[in-house]
Amino acid sequence: MPHNIAILGSTGSIGTQTLDVISRFPERFKATVLAAGSNVDQLIEQALTFRPALAIIADESKYARLHEALSPAGIETAAGSAALADAMERQDFDTVVTATVGYSGLLPTIRAIRAGKQIALANKETLVVAGELVTRLLADSPTRVIPVDSEHSAIYQCLVGEDPATVSKLIITASGGPFRTFTREQIEDVTPAQALHHPRWNMGAKITIDSATMLNKAFEIIEARWLFDVTPEQIEAVVHPQSIVHSMVEFIDGAVKAQLGIPDMRLPIRYALGDASRLPASERPLSLSDYAHLTFEKPDPEKFPCLTLAPYALRRGGNAACIINAANEVAVRAFLEEKIRFPEIYTTITRALDAIPFIETPELEDYVATHRATVTFTEELTGCKIPLRV
Ligand code: NDP
Ligand code: MG
Repeated sequence: MPHNIAILGSTGSIGTQTLDVISRFPERFKATVLAAGSNVDQLIEQALTFRPALAIIADESKYARLHEALSPAGIETAAGSAALADAMERQDFDTVVTATVGYSGLLPTIRAIRAGKQIALANKETLVVAGELVTRLLADSPTRVIPVDSEHSAIYQCLVGEDPATVSKLIITASGGPFRTFTREQIEDVTPAQALHHPRWNMGAKITIDSATMLNKAFEIIEARWLFDVTPEQIEAVVHPQSIVHSMVEFIDGAVKAQLGIPDMRLPIRYALGDASRLPASERPLSLSDYAHLTFEKPDPEKFPCLTLAPYALRRGGNAACIINAANEVAVRAFLEEKIRFPEIYTTITRALDAIPFIETPELEDYVATHRATVTFTEELTGCKIPLRV
C-alpha cells in the first residue's frame, strides 16, 4: 500500500518537487490531497495528473473554476484557509508535506499534529512563529517531524545513531546569497531582480529574498533550536558559498559529521517522505572533483543585520519571532513592489518589534493576534498589502 500524502503548497517550488518525487515512486507514494494558494490553473493540471481525492484552493474567488474543472473527474474540491486546516483531520492520508509559504503554514500544521499525522516540514515559519507551542504539542502527540529544509535534513541525518547528549554544536551552512561579496554601500541600492537571482538554489520568491537578507539563516537557527532541542549557544552559522556541505554536527569528542550532496531539494524531500530512509536518486550524484575548493567563512552581521535577529528572538522568546516573521512577510512584498529599499526590510522589522506589544508566554490565540496586528502595522508603514491574508 502506498503512503498517502497531503501536499500543502503543491504549486510552489517544494510542492512541485515533491510531486516529482512522488511520480518516481508510484508504488510507494500517492498524493491524496493537493492544496494551493491561488494558482488554480496549475492546481487543476496537477489534480488531473495525480488524481488526489481532494484539491483545495486557499483563494476562495477561484473555487468555481476549480470545482467545474475537477468534479467531472470525481475529485472533491474545497476553498479557503479554514477548509485547508480542516482537511488535516481526514483519515485518507498519513503524511503532510507543509510547503506553503510564511505564516499560512502554522494553523494547518498544528491541526495535523493534533490529528497525529507525520510531518515533512518545509514551512520553517511554523517553528519561527510558534516554536515553543508547536514543540509542546509535539511532545504530547505521536507525530514525527522530519525536516525538509536542507540544512535541518543534513543535521537530522548526521544525528542518526548518535546519543543527543553527546552533541556539542550544530553548524548550519549558508550560501551567503547573491550579495555575499557586495560592500555595505552596494547592498543599499540592490534591485528586486538582483535579489531574486540566487546563486545556488532555485526557490520561491519569498525565501529567495530571505536568503538575500540572510534572514533565512536567522530563521533556520530558530528552526534548529526547536527541532533539535539545543541551546541557542550550540548553534553556529557558517557561510559556504558552494552549497555542497548542507550542514554539520560537532560532538563532544571533537568529531564533526557532515552531510554533502548537490544542491537539489529532492534529496531532503525523498528522505522525509521515505520516513528517514534512503531512496534512489534520479538526479546526478555529487562529484567532488568538479569542485576545486569548498570554502567556509564567517557570516557578516554588519552587512546582513537580519542575522542578529536570531540571537535576539531566541533570547527574548515569547512572541518576538512571530513579530519578526509577520513584519518580514510584508516587508519582502513591499521590497518586491519597490515600495521600500532593500535595507529597509531590516528596519521595518525592528520598527514592528518596537511597536507591537511583547507577550512573554503566548498561547495560540496570542500568536494569531500578534501576527494580525503586526501585518496591519507593517502594511500601514510600507503602504503594501499582502494577498490571501490569513
Ligand atoms: P513558493 O512560493 O514556491 O510556493 C508556495 C506555495 O504555497 C504555493 O503552492 C502557493 O500557492 C502556496 N500558498 C501561498 N500562500 C498560501 C496560503 N495562504 N494558503 C495556502 N497555500 C498558499 O515557496 P517555496 O516552495 O519556495 O517554499 C515553501 C516553504 O518551504 C517555505 O516556508 C520555505 O521557507 C520552505 N523552504 C523552501 C525551500 C526551497 O528550495 N524552495 C528550501 C527550504 C525551505 P500558489 O502558488 O498557488 O499561490
Ligand atoms: Mg535551508
